[in-house]
Amino acid sequence: MKRIGILALQGAFEEHKKLLERLGAECFELRQKSDILNTSMDGLILPGGESTVMGKLLRELDMFELLHGRIIQGLPVFGTCAGLILLAKDIVNDPVTHFATMDISVKRNAYGRQLGSFYRDEEFVGIGFIPMTFIRAPYIEKVSGDVEVLARVEGKIVAARQKNMLVTAFHPELTDNCSVHEYFLNYV
Ligand code: GLN
Repeated sequence: MKRIGILALQGAFEEHKKLLERLGAECFELRQKSDILNTSMDGLILPGGESTVMGKLLRELDMFELLHGRIIQGLPVFGTCAGLILLAKDIVNDPVTHFATMDISVKRNAYGRQLGSFYRDEEFVGIGFIPMTFIRAPYIEKVSGDVEVLARVEGKIVAARQKNMLVTAFHPELTDNCSVHEYFLNYV
């Protein structure tokens, strides 16, 4: 059985757990350093929430270096929304980056006030059309290296992968459709 650690400091982590358990994965929450030290995991979820808050808590709780190391070593990781921001090497409207392991340049809160939250059905490479829920979402302005673009909405990149890292600007865990989580588990 695949064991997936879900960063559970803040934000929408519970919803990931429900979908992944439906797909037969075993999930556990990462709330403190010992949760990372004392367990083996096959995959990691960085959920949506507020990237600045998560970045701060990760450092304060001394979890940052440990997770950073695991990601660099190739642990499969799926970042949604704020999780995507945590993985980006460049944040165009924020000087502070976090894990900075993925060759993407992202814009936080990129859709402005009026489009704070919205919903689309769009194509995801390798899956087909899926529901996409956006909440104060970022988008990817630019990719480099071997990043593969997986979805666009109105010309903006909203999903991508690179090596062991998968990111979506939307929240697949907030819909009933578990295809993106299935996609992630397939390469865990
Ligand atoms: N706006 C949030 C941030 O910048 C991300 C929003 C989300 O995860 N739904 O971190």
